[in-house]
Amino acid sequence: MLKEIQVFLTKEIRGENEPKDTAVLIRALCLVDFLFIGINAVVLLADFGMEIGVRAFAGLLFIVLVFALSYRVKMRALVFLYYFAVITNVVMLTTHMGLPYMFQAQIYIIFMIFFYRAAGSQAERIASVVSSVIIIFGLIFYVRTHDPVLNIAMADYGFVTFYCTAYIMVKTVMLAFFFRKKFSASEEKIIKYSKKLEMLATTDPLTKLQNRRGMINHIENFVEETKSNGKLLTVAIGDIDLFKHINDTYGHEAGDYVLETIAKIMKEFIEGKGMVARWGGEEFLFSLEDINGDYAFEEMSKLLHLIERYEFLYEGTPIKVTMTFGLEEYDDNTGLDKVISKADEKLYIGKKQGRNRVIY
Ligand code: GH3
Ligand code: MG
Ligand code: MG
Repeated sequence: MLKEIQVFLTKEIRGENEPKDTAVLIRALCLVDFLFIGINAVVLLADFGMEIGVRAFAGLLFIVLVFALSYRVKMRALVFLYYFAVITNVVMLTTHMGLPYMFQAQIYIIFMIFFYRAAGSQAERIASVVSSVIIIFGLIFYVRTHDPVLNIAMADYGFVTFYCTAYIMVKTVMLAFFFRKKFSASEEKIIKYSKKLEMLATTDPLTKLQNRRGMINHIENFVEETKSNGKLLTVAIGDIDLFKHINDTYGHEAGDYVLETIAKIMKEFIEGKGMVARWGGEEFLFSLEDINGDYAFEEMSKLLHLIERYEFLYEGTPIKVTMTFGLEEYDDNTGLDKVISKADEKLYIGKKQGRNRVIY
């Protein structure tokens, strides 16, 4: 039952390209209005007979009409219609019954719908505030210069005051709830997108490895965090051997396949030991954490053999792939840039010595 009510209330507005949230809010408010104005209409009918009762029910009918229209009219029109429906009811009830029941306070709450609707203009919002103030003061002036038409039976006085207060409370809470919901929805969206942006900014799209920026951030964080306990760090730079030849022989797509596959092998291998990033075209940078140069040499040699023995198969064609690595132990006094360029120099030495080797 509750589920059905929810589906009914949250139904899209027909032919409207604005988000439906304002329509849903207005429908929910209409339900509360229906309940309270309905009770009031019954009380008025009982105390004062047909003539007044009919007027009260006409006000109620206006709310029902707005509810029904909320499924088809334009959102802007809907907001104005609802505002007008509430004002009509408030003006009628206040001029008939006076100020003590607080019907006029509805106006203070209801202009909030103009603020809730994101697509609304600033002019509409200002106009809603100004008109609310004018109507409230107009009502006060009217009531002070005219005797109330109705004198509610004493027995009903307490009851009417009670439910009017409840009425305002429920609508205020409802508005607060809707504003909160909208606020957290946009907050969640912002968090989601900023995470995504950060991910995009630090991830290489082809290999899904961290890129240069992501890696530098990572190493800097590691160095910062482990400064006090003096943890070791070794940096390795690896470059695919004669990659240009692979591209030229098997095509650029095959080259991409090699990059993606080798990235997976390296990522799996480095798991728990540190991190690997795509440093440039067919170059990769490794941070081997809590690992000294000698141990890193052994580790990178294992990776070298793993790659050498791996059967790269692109569309049925086997491709032989090897890599050359240069290693350098991180030193706080030297700094990251220098450590990387030293590793790079060793890589270059490895290339000159005939490739497919680790130089430390
Ligand atoms: P060496 O062993 O000396 O490193 O020789 P190499 O051929 O690997 O080196 P070189 O720098 O001459 O060539 C690197 C090639 O990598 C050239 C470039 O077209 C290719 N490359 C860079 N990025 C990509 C990529 O994203 N995809 C593909 N398929 N090729 C790439
Ligand atoms: Mg190369
Ligand atoms: Mg290269």
